[in-house]
Amino acid sequence: MRPLNEMSIQYIKGVGPARKKLFSQLGVETVEDLFYLFPRRYEDRRQMTPIKNLVAGEWYTIKGTVMARGGHRTWFTKKHVFEAAVEDEGAHLTCVWFNQPYLDNYFKPGSRVVLHGKVDTYKNRLQMVAPEYEIIAAQDETLSLGRIVPIYPLTRGMTQRYLRRIMKFCLDHYALQLRDDLPESLRRKHGLPSLSQSIARIHFSDDSTSQELAQKRVAFEEFFFFQVSVILRRLSLTQKPGVVHQIEDAVLEEFRQAFPFKLTRAQSKVIDQIAKDMRAQSPMLRLLQGDVGSGKTVAAFFGCVAAWRNGRQSTIMAPTEILARQHFESLQGLIKPSSLSGLRMGLLVGSAKKEEKEEIYRQVQSGQIDLLIGTHALLEDVVHFQNLSYVVIDEQHKFGVRQRAILSAKGLNPDILIMTATPIPRTLCLTLYGDLDLSVLDEMPPGRGKVTTRMFRQEQEQEVYQMVRRLVAQGQQAYIIYPLIEESEKLQLKAAEKMFERFVEQEFKEFRLALVHGQMNRKQTQATMEQFRNKNIDILVATTVLEVGVDVPDANVMVIEHAERFGLAQLHQLRGRIGRGQAEAVCLVVADPTTSEAQARLKALLSTNDGFRIAEEDLNIRGPGEFFGRHQHGLNELKVANPLTQLDILELARTEALELTRIDPYLHQGHNVIIRQVIQKRYPAYLVNVEAG
Ligand code: ADP
Ligand code: MG
Repeated sequence: MRPLNEMSIQYIKGVGPARKKLFSQLGVETVEDLFYLFPRRYEDRRQMTPIKNLVAGEWYTIKGTVMARGGHRTWFTKKHVFEAAVEDEGAHLTCVWFNQPYLDNYFKPGSRVVLHGKVDTYKNRLQMVAPEYEIIAAQDETLSLGRIVPIYPLTRGMTQRYLRRIMKFCLDHYALQLRDDLPESLRRKHGLPSLSQSIARIHFSDDSTSQELAQKRVAFEEFFFFQVSVILRRLSLTQKPGVVHQIEDAVLEEFRQAFPFKLTRAQSKVIDQIAKDMRAQSPMLRLLQGDVGSGKTVAAFFGCVAAWRNGRQSTIMAPTEILARQHFESLQGLIKPSSLSGLRMGLLVGSAKKEEKEEIYRQVQSGQIDLLIGTHALLEDVVHFQNLSYVVIDEQHKFGVRQRAILSAKGLNPDILIMTATPIPRTLCLTLYGDLDLSVLDEMPPGRGKVTTRMFRQEQEQEVYQMVRRLVAQGQQAYIIYPLIEESEKLQLKAAEKMFERFVEQEFKEFRLALVHGQMNRKQTQATMEQFRNKNIDILVATTVLEVGVDVPDANVMVIEHAERFGLAQLHQLRGRIGRGQAEAVCLVVADPTTSEAQARLKALLSTNDGFRIAEEDLNIRGPGEFFGRHQHGLNELKVANPLTQLDILELARTEALELTRIDPYLHQGHNVIIRQVIQKRYPAYLVNVEAG
C-alpha cells in the first residue's frame, strides 16, 4: 500500500476531483495532510442547552428541528434577512442571518440542526443572530451529536459534517499506518500514546483527558525534533575549525579609547565575550540582544577591528538599504578621527549602479576592502571575499537560517554575530535559540534623556500640536509620524501628504517643515534627512521610513499619529529614535484604539520603556507565530506545539534532545537513524553542514 503522504485525498471514497480542489484550499493533498488538519476548537455536545433554558447575553450550542423559515428584504436598508424558527422540546427560538439568501436551500422544514451563537433580545423575544450552523442528517448523528465534536477550519463549499465524515473514514482505515517516529523508549518513559492513537483522539475523543494527552504527545514530538535539529546545527558549526584570531589586550584597549564616548559597561563586557570567542578555534555563534540605541553596532564593530588587525575581512548585513547606509556612514564618521582610520570600508546595496557594484566586487575579492557593509545584495554569488573571518547580521528576525548559512559560506567557518533589537523574552531564548550563545546589552549609554510617553485621542489633536509648537519654539526638533502616505477611503486616515500641506498653512506655519515618505527616492530622502540633522528643518513629517534608523540627537519630540495602526515593536522602535541627546524627550501618541489588541499594545507602550518588557507583552498579545515572523527558526514547522503555552513540554523535549545528542551526536545508532531522516525532511536548513563523522 502507498505511504500516507503519497496517498492522494482524491481517491478517498466521497472525495473525487471537485472536492479535492476544496481540500487543496485547506492545504490538504494527501491522507497524511488530512490527519494533520486539526480542529480549530471543540464543541461539547454531550449535553446541549435546551432552548427553554436560554438567557440573553450568553453563548450557547443548541440542537433542534427547523419548523419554518423564510427570507425577505428590509424596506429601508434593502438588506436580505433570512429567518428560521427552531424548535426543541416545545420551545422555539428565532435565528436570523443577513445577506445569505442561499440558506433557504439548507434549512428545510423538518431538518435537524445544531446552532452555536450568542443569544440576544429583539423586540422582547430571544433570538440568535448569524449563529454557526450545521444541518445534521440521521446517518451522521453519531459523529456530530452526543459527543465532543471537532470544529474544523473550513473553506467555501465544504461543511463540518462532510469533513467529519471523511476524517472518520480515513482514521478508521488508515490511522494505524501512521509511522511513529518518536523512539519507543521516550514514549514509554513519558507515558505518551502512539501517534495513530493520538491523532485519532485529537479528532474524535470521548473525554478531554485523553485528548490532552494526545495533544501533549504531538507537541512533544514536534518540540523534540525541533530541539534535536537546533542542537545538531550548533554541533555541526562549532565542531569545525574556524579562524584563530590573535587579539592582544592592547587591541581591546585601543578600541575602548578610540571613540569620543566611553563604552558602557555592558558594551565592554560584550566586547570581551566577542574577543574570547574570536580567539578560540571553534567558530563563534552568538546572538547580541539590545534595545534600540543601546549601542549594538559599536559593540559588534569590535569584531571587524579584530579581524582587520589579523589581516582579515568582515561584513555587516542589514535588512534595509537605509540601515546599511546608516551603519556605513556612522561607522566611517566614528573611525575617521581615530587610530582605526586605516580600516577600509565598502558599501554594497542593491540599488547601486552596476559599475559601482562591480568595483566593490573587485575590491572585496582582492582584499582592498576590510569591512563590507550591505543588504542581502551581499548574498549574491558574485560576492567573493578574499578571507572573510567575521560576519555580523543585523536584525536577525528578517533573515532566515538559510541566508545566515549562505553568508557564512563566503568565509571559512567565520565567526558569526547576530544582532537583534527585538529582545526575546528570557524564558524562551535558550530553547528557541539553543544554537546561539547569548550576549545582552542591558544598559543605555549615559546622558540619554528619559522619554515620557503620553496618549491622546484624535479629538485632542490641537492640544498635541500646541505642545509641539511650544517645544519647537524652545529650539527642539520634532517628528510627526504617519502610518500611510496615500489617503485611503476605507481607513479614513489622514495621510501624511495631506496633513503636511495643512501643517504648512496652518498649525506650524511659522516653522520650517519637510516631508519624507517611502515613495520618495533615496536622494531626496537623504537630502532631507541631512537638513534635518543639520537643524535646517524644525519639524519632519514622515511615514514609517524612519523606523529603521536615522540618528538625530537633537530631535526629542515625536508625535505618532494613528498609533493604533502600528505594531508594538514598531512603536517602541519609533520611540527609540528620540531621547538620544541630553534633553528630556516626549513621545505624544495619538490614537483611537477600537480593538482590545490595539488597546493592549498602547497600554504596554505607555507602561514601560524597557525593550524586554515590551517584547514580552508583544509576544503575549500576538502569539509566537506572528511575533517571530515567518522566517524564524523552524517555528513554522510547529503545527500544534505552542512554545508559549507549552513551555514545560518544550523544556522536557529539550532535555531529552540534549541527552540523545550527547550519547549519539551523529545519530548513527538504531532508531536514531530515523530521527535523522525526520530532521532531514522537516528542517533541511539545519542539516546543511552536518556530515556523518
Ligand atoms: P543600536 O544599534 O543598539 O540601536 P547604535 O550602535 O546604532 O545602537 O548606537 C546608537 C548611537 O549611540 C550611535 O550614534 C552610536 O554612535 C552611539 N553610541 C554607541 N555607544 C555609545 C556610548 N557608549 N556612549 C555614547 N554614545 C554611544
Ligand atoms: Mg542600530
